[in-house]
Amino acid sequence: MTGKLLFIILDGLGDRPIPELGGKTPLEYAKTPNMDKFAELGVTGIMDVIETGQTPGSDTAHLALFGVDPFQYYTGRGPFEASGVGLTVKEGDIAFRVNFATIDENGIIVDRRAGRIKEGTDEFIEQLNGIEIEGVQFLMKAGTEHRAALVLRGKNLSDKVSANDPKVEGKAPYSFKALEDSESAEKTARVLSEFAKKSHEILSDSSLNKQRIEAGKLAANYLLIRGAGKVPKLPNFEKEYGLQTACVAGGGLYKGVARMLGMEIIEKDGMTGGTDTDVSLKAETAFDLLKTHDFIFLHFKGTDNYGHDGNYNGKVEFIEKVDKELYRFLPEKFKEELVIMISGDHSTPCSFKDHSADPVPLIICSPTCVKDDVKHFGERYAYNGGLGRIKGKHLMKLLLNELHLVEKFGA
Ligand SMILES: [Zn+2]
Repeated sequence: MTGKLLFIILDGLGDRPIPELGGKTPLEYAKTPNMDKFAELGVTGIMDVIETGQTPGSDTAHLALFGVDPFQYYTGRGPFEASGVGLTVKEGDIAFRVNFATIDENGIIVDRRAGRIKEGTDEFIEQLNGIEIEGVQFLMKAGTEHRAALVLRGKNLSDKVSANDPKVEGKAPYSFKALEDSESAEKTARVLSEFAKKSHEILSDSSLNKQRIEAGKLAANYLLIRGAGKVPKLPNFEKEYGLQTACVAGGGLYKGVARMLGMEIIEKDGMTGGTDTDVSLKAETAFDLLKTHDFIFLHFKGTDNYGHDGNYNGKVEFIEKVDKELYRFLPEKFKEELVIMISGDHSTPCSFKDHSADPVPLIICSPTCVKDDVKHFGERYAYNGGLGRIKGKHLMKLLLNELHLVEKFGA
């Protein structure tokens, strides 16, 4: 028998009491018989994912949860987004997030998302890929809708450059600027400016855009580029922990973090990074993977999306949907020695509609762990849990200890 780790993240899970829910949080209000069972059979607590009082982003939060220090390794969101859409990034590349946008004949941004363009960005990118300026290669890959990733590969490049995205419409795109006094930053800003100009020319001339205009749509004729990050060399999860790992997630960012840590990325139709994701398919896939892998990272984004929208009913329903599928992992049904962890990467309170520094509730459940008195999964219960208040960087250590003891002394 070998131990297995199931690592479940409900993005933005943590919340605050909501008057309309009788003063309960969405997690407390939701009917979650399975998560309650794990809470009863396991030990609970709360977790400051980065540091106490610090509001995490999803990317830095996930690094911390996987035991990788974001203060040491994080350089920006670009590399993870690029890796998430399947662009192979190499150490030293400079990666960016890109929006296809629309600018008018006066160079003013009409729409930052090119009318939320749904299809065709692949074809546009085909026309842009392979551009080389001053020996720097420009590599692109489409993301969802208007999004794409851009990687600059070449010598003497820097991520200390500003974005051209003013983040509002009705303004001209900014020019790229070096953010430090170095030749590499100057060069990077220079080649990016040239690329923005060149890509605008190519996109404006594209027959696809002419078709869009004829169909009454906005032309996708400009690239807004932001989020510069130098691709870091991250530790390899498998080598670090000796675990065969797989990632079941829909959102590009999460797949990107996982891929850069060396996890195997499982992709299936219907496993999206939104509220529409096929929760059942994800859970079933994770369940099957436990037969061949030791560590499964199972990620759901819907909770965070509903938090950002302030939609507490949606958040409750999404939590219930996930809970329903967790019956698969109940100890009595599971033959392997399973350690299961359920938590969030940060709180996204519906009242706040954004990430907050509130700690997230968590459960660690294994056949041999000491159980606390908590029998429900929810913020107020977790505050009384036996794990107390831990930091994200300690989570993997706790789980590996659990796994080690389960393997040694069995269920
Ligand atoms: Zn998040």
